[in-house]
Amino acid sequence: MPTESATDYDPSLGRKFIFVTGGVMSGLGKGITAASTGRLLSNAGFDVTAVKIDPYLNVDAGTMNPYQHGEVYVLKDGGEVDLDLGNYERFLDIDMTFDHNITTGKVYQHVIENERSGDYLGKTVQIIPHVTDDIKRRIREAAAGHDICIVEVGGTVGDIEGMQYLEALRQFAHEEDDEDILFTHVTLVPYSKNGEQKTKPTQHSVKELRSIGLQPDILVGRCEDRLDPETKEKIALFCDVPTDAVFSNPDVEDIYHVPLMVEDEGLDQYVMERLGLEGEALPEDERHNHWRELVTRETQGEVEIALVGKYGLEDAYISIHESLKHAGLETGVDVTTTWVHSEDLAEGHSGELDDVDGVVVPGGFGSRGIAGKIEACRYARENDVPYLGLCLGFQMAVVEYARNVLDLTGAHSAEIDEDTPHPVIDLLPEQYDLEDMGGTMRLGAHETDIQPGTLAHAVYDDTTCTERHRHRYEVNPEYIDDLENAGLIFSGRTNNRMEILELEDHPYYVGTQFHPEFRSRPGRASPPFVGLLDAILDNEIGARVEEGEVEV
Ligand code: GLN
Repeated sequence: MPTESATDYDPSLGRKFIFVTGGVMSGLGKGITAASTGRLLSNAGFDVTAVKIDPYLNVDAGTMNPYQHGEVYVLKDGGEVDLDLGNYERFLDIDMTFDHNITTGKVYQHVIENERSGDYLGKTVQIIPHVTDDIKRRIREAAAGHDICIVEVGGTVGDIEGMQYLEALRQFAHEEDDEDILFTHVTLVPYSKNGEQKTKPTQHSVKELRSIGLQPDILVGRCEDRLDPETKEKIALFCDVPTDAVFSNPDVEDIYHVPLMVEDEGLDQYVMERLGLEGEALPEDERHNHWRELVTRETQGEVEIALVGKYGLEDAYISIHESLKHAGLETGVDVTTTWVHSEDLAEGHSGELDDVDGVVVPGGFGSRGIAGKIEACRYARENDVPYLGLCLGFQMAVVEYARNVLDLTGAHSAEIDEDTPHPVIDLLPEQYDLEDMGGTMRLGAHETDIQPGTLAHAVYDDTTCTERHRHRYEVNPEYIDDLENAGLIFSGRTNNRMEILELEDHPYYVGTQFHPEFRSRPGRASPPFVGLLDAILDNEIGARVEEGEVEV
């Protein structure tokens, strides 16, 4: 697990803070609203970072089930965090660290450790001030060195778990200059049966916020459409903000259009004025415009990718969906991702994959649906369907090859079948004596050496790559020679660890032990995903190699 800094903070750390809370209900897209605001401020030339507060008692998201909480996102330092951090990294094009995800588990663990070591000798340890001080310290430290720090409080105002954070923010605002702090509250504005935009839920939620001493500066109404001028006036009047501090965040088809929507309403301008930053912003005609250009780019044609996983929930594979989208933006096609339930792909019956252009088998843990994942590997390999296997998808490609090409009957990963006669995938040596589950996998960014002249080399256009990891198992070194002699190419390695596999005589059969999806950004799509689409769009990588555009 990444280590945490526990230094005394310098109160002048960080310059401007935007606190984002949510009301009425969760799942409103508060994180996207916050990340979009950040995107616009960074377009205006500011160095923006973000902090996500998760009020649960888990120390990190690593031990949570994706059904409950969506994907576990992995940071470069190995932090296993909430998927919202992925949105911040993608929208702001920054790399964050574990310190940027504050959880109640982390805060309490630290305060209790301090108590045990005698730091508060003689005192009663309490939520105020000990817990709230630790929360404020963490926010200031994460903001250090940046112009603007966006702090999103997970959950909804009024949740018991969130109270200590809102109190910490109240104190924070009290300690800082008014001009350095901005409170944004995101609420739901539903339609009534007769088509009227209703402001009462927003009024109630703001009332709740004010009862704990927080007055929002900006209100963002999530609504099917833009808020009518009368709706904005009503919200302004009842919630005590100027009418031009009320913004709409209407439903959009593509979340990458949210920054454009809020920019059209002048949210960035308002934030900069309120924080006294207009003088420092780039003049309007010099602001970075690449985001708008990128996300409004015309695409031609459509590609359908089957994502063979066990969770029928988009959030469980959000970074993969986004990576495919980024690769689509780069190659100029629309990508539709169809979820194929791995439990439905029984051996020898992969009809669900008949009409797709490519197959992705994502990461995962445990045995449910594993036969379907192996079947997807077989189908893609034998039918020349472009394939990308990520982590577990890489491991199952090895298992399938061992079984069907090497004839190693019953070959498997020791994770799934402890008694397999051929554990082609086995526990990492350093994992044998571990007892704790939290934060103990092989995590975070590690460099991989890529063999010159391989497909991986063409894909990365480099002889190394640094990608993020999250696994306990790997290719068993005892089987490497046999697998290679039978035609499987391990084109990426870290010492004796197999990191990338590929096949000759196949349009694109690639597996990665790492998770390239965590480094993909709009405008900087992940190479293995671009390679997948290139292969579908007529093996463009091959063409680029032939034309000498990519050196191998
Ligand atoms: N369960 C496998 C392992 O631990 C794969 C992990 C993953 O896909 N992230 O090695």
